[in-house]
Amino acid sequence: MAERSGERVAEGFAWRMVEPGKPLERQAVRFAAETPAESLVEVIACGICHTDIGFLHDGVRTRKAPPIALGHEIVGRVLDGPLAGREVVVPAVLPCGECRACRSGHPGTCARQVMPGNDIDGGFASHVVVPSRYLQPIPEGGGLETWQYAAAADAGSTAWAAVERCEVGAGDVVVVIGAGGVGGFAAQAARARGAEVLAVDVDQERLDSLSRHAGIAVLSARGMSPRDLRTAVSARLGKDRWGWRILECSGTPAGQEAAFTLLGPAGILGVIGFTPAKVKLRLSNLMALEAKAVGSWGCPPELYPAVLDAMASGAVKVAPFVERFPMDEVNALLDRVHAGELRRRPVLVN
Ligand SMILES: [Zn+2]
Ligand SMILES: [Zn+2]
Repeated sequence: MAERSGERVAEGFAWRMVEPGKPLERQAVRFAAETPAESLVEVIACGICHTDIGFLHDGVRTRKAPPIALGHEIVGRVLDGPLAGREVVVPAVLPCGECRACRSGHPGTCARQVMPGNDIDGGFASHVVVPSRYLQPIPEGGGLETWQYAAAADAGSTAWAAVERCEVGAGDVVVVIGAGGVGGFAAQAARARGAEVLAVDVDQERLDSLSRHAGIAVLSARGMSPRDLRTAVSARLGKDRWGWRILECSGTPAGQEAAFTLLGPAGILGVIGFTPAKVKLRLSNLMALEAKAVGSWGCPPELYPAVLDAMASGAVKVAPFVERFPMDEVNALLDRVHAGELRRRPVLVN
């Protein structure tokens, strides 16, 4: 391990996926930042995301072929690079910052983007070597423990960016479909911008958690058709649905259908959840309603400081939604996430 700031090389370990479906292997690794554009970061913590499960169990291929260390929700201490000595969040997606996509406000579509745990070795490790450009310093004096900021690397920032892309402002009505993970943070991010928020899910425990710990208004859609749900939502928020922002975060066909059914005049549908499944929609509703649908993936780097500040100040609550485990338990934790056993987002801590 590097003793002090300014070290460009470190001896450590990485939990690598050698073959999909098999447990990760702990391998000895020599980490080296080759150029000043890269930083050597000691991993403090790394969250486990469903994307990791996709790579390990569901046939989704990593862009770099195995062996590769998974994990893209990284918080660490910079050992070498422009921010040496600082604690940082490593954004889950690091765009190039130069290309047409990056300059047009769509860095999520940058062809040269780098995602730890997909393009390069990720955070289930002692260290990572990552591009320096967009590392995000953790605010000093915030109310969170450092490891808890792992929630900002992907889930919290993805939610924040979606709320931004859906042009949510004070007084807007926002309905969030899917109240776990990204959806829960999206509800909180919308509320932080002064919106009136209702979170919808079929999982009562998830709704109770979001209501109890973050004070978000919730509604159970269990057993409801999209039309039943629209009636129930209107009973809570009014009938006109004018200008409503509907944020689909469930990534399920049922959720997507429900979200489209809730869209009203001059409304905006944000598609944040992913499913490979198709749904049948009458797209001309967008014409008749002068509504629009926007996709949002990841988070532009320039939005991260606002996300971290909102978490540090408590405007977006994190602590009740994350749980820490030792890094050495990574394989057991991946199994538990795969089995759907955990209510809170697991964060592996070194
Ligand atoms: Zn993730
Ligand atoms: Zn780019």
